[in-house]
Amino acid sequence: MARRKLVAGNWKMNGSHAALAELDAIAAAARANPGIDVAICPPFTLIAPAAARGDVPIGAQDCHAAPAGAHTGCVSVDMLREVGARLAIVGHSERRADQHETDAEVRAKAAAAIAGGLDAIVCVGETEAERDAGAAIAVVSGQLEGSIPQASDAGRLVVAYEPVWAIGTGRTPTAADIAEMHGAIRTRLRALIGPAADGVRILYGGSVKPGNAADILGLPDVDGALVGGASLTAADFVPIIDAAAASGRG
Ligand code: PEP
Repeated sequence: MARRKLVAGNWKMNGSHAALAELDAIAAAARANPGIDVAICPPFTLIAPAAARGDVPIGAQDCHAAPAGAHTGCVSVDMLREVGARLAIVGHSERRADQHETDAEVRAKAAAAIAGGLDAIVCVGETEAERDAGAAIAVVSGQLEGSIPQASDAGRLVVAYEPVWAIGTGRTPTAADIAEMHGAIRTRLRALIGPAADGVRILYGGSVKPGNAADILGLPDVDGALVGGASLTAADFVPIIDAAAASGRG
């Protein structure tokens, strides 16, 4: 099944109103490459002005699973949609570590995002110790089993494979390791949600840069990238968008 590539930027806790100027060149690159999807997930505070600024789809870096209530500091899916968000990252490894998010919570957030009309990017990935122990595929399979919502939600589901040890480090797995993991994720998704798995985009994330994007995005079953540091400036992010578009043409 042909899947449109998706290049999504995760600004994490970076960016001010001045940073929104980067969106103009990113929007131009997205318009120039209509065969792929591009998105930016800025901090909550910038979602509304980012969505108002142009036509790059804007997402959140988290959402709460509940529609409303006594959850100080949290933001619901309806609130996000109201200010213009079209997608939400859930289960990023930084939140799994810093906020102790469990697979069950990640699944509930993904289901809430999808039910509320957002695309959900569910993040999975092993630690370095788990890879060194030969357990990477088993760990990621377990995270998928616990974190992804039901088959009926698959149309809006995206999975991001982000090895924890590759995030922000400048290190990446070998091409063979990425291809093996993405193939294993596809197989696991088929077992979990059936044929709908073939429509689910599997992104790679972890130190994607202009210099390695073409190699990574050309691998089998790599349907795009989730990009942290290199999404903060158009100078770095636009070449990654171009590489994703070119990989689809080849
Ligand atoms: C991320 O945190 O989602 C990420 C992929 O970060 P970086 O590209 O900076 O490694």
